[in-house]
Amino acid sequence: MSNNTLGGGCFCGQIRYEIRAEPALQVLCFCTDCLKTTGTSGYGGYMVQESHFAVVRGEPRVHSRQSKEGRTVRRNFCPECGSNLFGVTDFGLVSVAAGTLDDPERFQPSKKVFVDDAPHWARVPDELEAM
Ligand SMILES: [Zn+2]
Ligand SMILES: [Zn+2]
Repeated sequence: MSNNTLGGGCFCGQIRYEIRAEPALQVLCFCTDCLKTTGTSGYGGYMVQESHFAVVRGEPRVHSRQSKEGRTVRRNFCPECGSNLFGVTDFGLVSVAAGTLDDPERFQPSKKVFVDDAPHWARVPDELEAM
């Protein structure tokens, strides 16, 4: 693994991925789909171009669903431990779950999205720019 490569994976270690470029966007997402699939509010999306992302071990299970805006998101998770790993959008970006990065400190969100959908107990950072 080179210095420019950022690795990550699921809780049990069966699925591993690598990211080979800087992220295109880093967001905290408060949408209801992320709420449901992660079980909490404020999904950390470390978004990278699809061509710079690869699964290098294991085979995630995939669940496809159309988002509110009519876009299809293919959510990938570990069939063994259930970790929510990444979502592949139909606009060429992979939204990697920031908590699954080997070094979660690399995640530095600058934007927040769908804050109106956040439940009352969510902590929405004021300093982030709304998208
Ligand atoms: Zn796993
Ligand atoms: Zn979301």
